[in-house]
Amino acid sequence: MHTGYWKLLLFPLALLLGACATSGPSGRESQTPAEWLSRARVVDLGHPLTPDMPVFPGGTRLSAKVQGTVERDGYFIRQLELGEHIGTHVDAPAHFAAGSASVDRLPPDVLRGPAAVVDVTAQVASNPDYEVSTADIEAWEREHGPLQPQHLVLIRTGWAARWPDEQRYRNADAAGVMHFPGLSLAASRLLRLRQVRAIGIDTLSTDPGPSATFEQHKDFLTGGGYHIENLADLSALPPVGAFLVVSPLFVKDGSGAPARVFAFLPPER
Ligand SMILES: [Zn+2]
Repeated sequence: MHTGYWKLLLFPLALLLGACATSGPSGRESQTPAEWLSRARVVDLGHPLTPDMPVFPGGTRLSAKVQGTVERDGYFIRQLELGEHIGTHVDAPAHFAAGSASVDRLPPDVLRGPAAVVDVTAQVASNPDYEVSTADIEAWEREHGPLQPQHLVLIRTGWAARWPDEQRYRNADAAGVMHFPGLSLAASRLLRLRQVRAIGIDTLSTDPGPSATFEQHKDFLTGGGYHIENLADLSALPPVGAFLVVSPLFVKDGSGAPARVFAFLPPER
């Protein structure tokens, strides 16, 4: 066969391979992770810790005592006291499963991953006690594909709009029973079955407000996953496409810890 003919055959293949090798997450040029992250939009998914922000009943509020000022001492420094589960925070498996991983034992590998954002704002608008169902999770999967073990599943309820008004955020009735959305036990079990790394939510708890037995917590944390609670507004996140980094305080033997949570999104064109 004439050598020129071979070249003609190989040309489209070379084009195809070339295109694969150079297309990055944006479908454009190839980028290293550092290049992609440097160009990414970063969304802060946390609330700042303040002394008067909403806490779960019984939680220790933040107190910050000034120990030194620049004027008096030459440097500014404070002493903090705070509960492990205040503000935007991580629940480690040890929070409900004795002997399991404390917050310092969550490896960095599981503290990052692609976000799967399940939007239930419409359901919550008409029912503050809404429990995320298996149907909600399955509907997400039908549209976006099966959940994978690397996923961090974020439940967007819209409740973050009530922060930092504790009364509206807890939404307790006359008997003291709180009313805010959370996950049903069945949805939790499905997510555990999918082995997703974490469940995050923009409310005070992944269990629905009225829960007194925290069945969802027991289920998911016993399975080795972790929670992120009191997330800030999730409206900037698409259902897929954001990459999360979760950074709880590195407290040895902690049941959980306040965390910075960042979402990285492709740059705006
Ligand atoms: Zn929790």
